[in-house]
Amino acid sequence: MNNCIFCKIINKEIPSNIVYEDDKFLAFLDIAKATNGHTILIPKKHVKNVLECDDETLGEMMIIAKKIATNLINKLGAEGCNILTNCNEVAGQTCFHFHIHIIPRYDAKDALEINFNESKKQELSEVLHTILE
Ligand code: 5GP
Ligand code: ZN
Repeated sequence: MNNCIFCKIINKEIPSNIVYEDDKFLAFLDIAKATNGHTILIPKKHVKNVLECDDETLGEMMIIAKKIATNLINKLGAEGCNILTNCNEVAGQTCFHFHIHIIPRYDAKDALEINFNESKKQELSEVLHTILE
């Protein structure tokens, strides 16, 4: 997609700090890092989000994400990482070219907060029934 910022990064029309590249994938440092080494991994084929990504590409991508995360942790002295993708605007997606965030973690107080706040009580058997029907 010619208007897509990540496609422009793939085509080297926009510079980026490349962490990993092969014929199908590119990984580069996030311009607004949450932590030191925050990396964005993308498929070179433009798809909107994880749900539009074919299974084979997604499988390969997770293996690469694991390798990048391991390398970041080892080289940067992190203690863990978050590997995540935001799917659609409601979930915080702002760039609509599928990407996986690989975010090294150094401290529980890093500039990234993921809180699973408890919402209104609900009978779990009811939601399960709806999911499985
Ligand atoms: P999203 O919110 O869609 O999950 O994440 C998009 C990410 O891409 C953001 O963390 C943002 O900082 C990063 N980003 C957006 N534009 C650019 C860019 O031009 N270069 C780089 N390196 N990162 C970008
Ligand atoms: Zn794109």
